[in-house]
Amino acid sequence: MLLTLLEKKILTEDTRSFTFAAEGPFLFEPGQFTMLSQIGAAPKDRRAFSVASAPNASTLTFLVTYKPEGHVSGFLETANIGAQIEAQKPIGRFVLNPQDTARVFIATGTGLAPMISFIESDTPKIPTTILFGVRNESRLFWTDKLPVDALITLSQPSNTWSGLKGRVTNHTADLITKNANAAWYICGNPEMVKEVRAALLTASIPTANIHFEIY
Ligand SMILES: Cc1cc2nc3c(=O)[nH]c(=O)nc-3n(C[C@H](O)[C@H](O)[C@H](O)COP(=O)(O)OP(=O)(O)OC[C@H]3O[C@@H](n4cnc5c(N)ncnc54)[C@H](O)[C@@H]3O)c2cc1C
Repeated sequence: MLLTLLEKKILTEDTRSFTFAAEGPFLFEPGQFTMLSQIGAAPKDRRAFSVASAPNASTLTFLVTYKPEGHVSGFLETANIGAQIEAQKPIGRFVLNPQDTARVFIATGTGLAPMISFIESDTPKIPTTILFGVRNESRLFWTDKLPVDALITLSQPSNTWSGLKGRVTNHTADLITKNANAAWYICGNPEMVKEVRAALLTASIPTANIHFEIY
């Protein structure tokens, strides 16, 4: 499927959002990802990106960590509006379980992408706690897309930051106490996902209630 670039935004030093029009229906479930590439690129040059918008939206948005040498993020960095890329059929099991009665979303950095797809989709709303972590104020983005009660934690905040401090893993124990029966959705860098998952398992949260996507 060809995607045509409609809008690009520089959100932080290394975080971008890219919004595309698809040439036809691009069917996916909130939380899924697609392999993006330059047109005609070999399969080894495709890269995974979670859709960061809802299935019912008229356009498709991705959150991308820019790597100067990146096959896809590097291409997108210099792509002009109107440029085209190729997207494979969306896949992935990081999707909401309709049986959940409460949920906790934990994300770091561009791991926020699937959470935004969850939040913006028209799935039935149930009690949801959101914890989003980045390094410092200059790394924050898209907080306006989060509910007002979302928890935002900075691992290296400035002196003027009055919100939560520390890595998301510093807050996991408290979240477990308050949300023992919730389903957990975790997305971001491998260390964070591994640590949060270990804390959940130690607290005897059933594996069926722990969903994760490792970037
Ligand atoms: C299921 C899934 C979903 C994902 N969704 C997203 C998403 O929504 N958004 C997102 O940003 N990522 C996402 N990722 C991660 C993303 O697929 C990889 O980071 C991918 O490598 C990015 O491709 P690229 O074009 O940026 O760089 P690549 O072509 O993969 O990297 C090229 C080169 O960049 C250099 N490089 C590697 N890491 C760094 C670094 N940290 N800093 C600077 N240079 C570096 C290395 O030299 C590397 O060889 C996802 C991963 C998975 C598995």
